[in-house]
Amino acid sequence: MISNNRRIVIVGGGVIGICCAYYLAKRGAAVTVVEREEVGSGASFGNAGTIAPGHGPINKPGRVLQAVRSLGDQLSPLYVAPRWDPGLVRWLWQFSRKCTEDHVEHCLSVLGPLGHATCELFERLVDEESLDCGYRQAGYYEVFRTRAALDGAHREAAQLRAHGYRPETLAGAAMREREVAVSETVVGAVYYPEAGTVNPHRFVCELAQRAGNHGATIVTGAEVAEVVVADGKVSGVLTAAGDELAGDLVLLAAGAYTPRLTRKLGIPLPLQPAKGYHRDRDPETGSTPRLRDTVMLGEKSVFCTPMDGFVRFAGTLEFSGENLTIRRPRLEQLTNAAQLYLDGMADDSALSEWCGLRPCISDGLPVVGPAPGLDGLFLATGHGMLGLTLGPVTGLLTADYLLEGRRPTELSALRVDRF
Ligand SMILES: Cc1cc2nc3c(=O)[nH]c(=O)nc-3n(C[C@H](O)[C@H](O)[C@H](O)COP(=O)(O)OP(=O)(O)OC[C@H]3O[C@@H](n4cnc5c(N)ncnc54)[C@H](O)[C@@H]3O)c2cc1C
Repeated sequence: MISNNRRIVIVGGGVIGICCAYYLAKRGAAVTVVEREEVGSGASFGNAGTIAPGHGPINKPGRVLQAVRSLGDQLSPLYVAPRWDPGLVRWLWQFSRKCTEDHVEHCLSVLGPLGHATCELFERLVDEESLDCGYRQAGYYEVFRTRAALDGAHREAAQLRAHGYRPETLAGAAMREREVAVSETVVGAVYYPEAGTVNPHRFVCELAQRAGNHGATIVTGAEVAEVVVADGKVSGVLTAAGDELAGDLVLLAAGAYTPRLTRKLGIPLPLQPAKGYHRDRDPETGSTPRLRDTVMLGEKSVFCTPMDGFVRFAGTLEFSGENLTIRRPRLEQLTNAAQLYLDGMADDSALSEWCGLRPCISDGLPVVGPAPGLDGLFLATGHGMLGLTLGPVTGLLTADYLLEGRRPTELSALRVDRF
């Protein structure tokens, strides 16, 4: 338990760090966020903006085969760049052992309740804090061109129903009635009504501002080089510029870069960066259909999200290490794939092209909890494909844990020492 006059230093100003800062500061804790660039400049900047509650992990039966096949195929939605990286090989081995039906069911039993809670929190946050972030609770559609993939989606929908969600299955024609831009090639769809949409960057920036109103200090342009440990206990952080910032508790929320800090402390964290891309296009030019709601291209795993007057095409899962190199064929694949599913797609320049690194843990679940064997260190990272979705609930439960001094039951499966 941490009393309100003890200082909490949060490393990372992405959606996770900022949500933690908001809920802690709102309850009177003394919080400083240290961000090496600007708030929301990591994966939280350009993601697909979909709040997708209840959805499962990337670990699934069949994924390993997909990863192996992708070794020679740059255009595969899941792509492992061929190279020798012992850390990645170890991670893939651990990942493969968790690609079972039993594990998927375990993850859904954890992520299902977190998803219900996070939907309520988004509603409340946007309402109470008047967040100007384009929030809409309108659900999203997963559309499919093949019967086999549609059957798989129906099975996943049935799994979600068992966890209190209400996915709706639609035939191709019914889907086209909802969204006219969906082409005749689509044979069916699943609608997830609980889902929502935000502009993810605006959400993080707005919430950071409200965290500041509640007393949080946000320092940008300062990279944390290491966590300082004195007498077996964390005493703060040291920046790359050589400044020391004292703290009674350090919370690591540095996304895909968290292992850089945990490695120095000898804390095992099976986390790999998984690169994703976005391309934003302007429907005003006539090159892109004006979508009403978010459509996800099932077989290609590309989200097409209407956002602030443009459409964001976002997706792909690329394991190529900690780098922000844009591989053009993969980027272009986002809109090439959309041409297969949507009418009215033409070649055109993009308003924005971007890539970011998702922090992915080998068992598909985040880590949220105290670091084992080191007093004063807390981790909140590894949210993979669901960091935006799980941001508010992670922040709230982290504040409960730190301020009330006991682990909320929802966080038991996310312990750091489970590996
Ligand atoms: C293409 C794409 C689409 C996605 N779509 C969705 C979606 O629709 N819905 C969803 O829920 N999730 C989605 N995600 C996943 C989501 O974006 C991530 O899970 C989430 O942004 C992770 O948040 P984070 O705060 O952990 O990391 P980040 O947003 O990466 O933030 C970490 C921050 O820490 C800072 N930092 C790192 N190291 C240091 C240091 N040493 N010192 C100081 N600061 C440091 C970084 O600069 C960064 O700002 C998507 C991701 C991608 C790439």
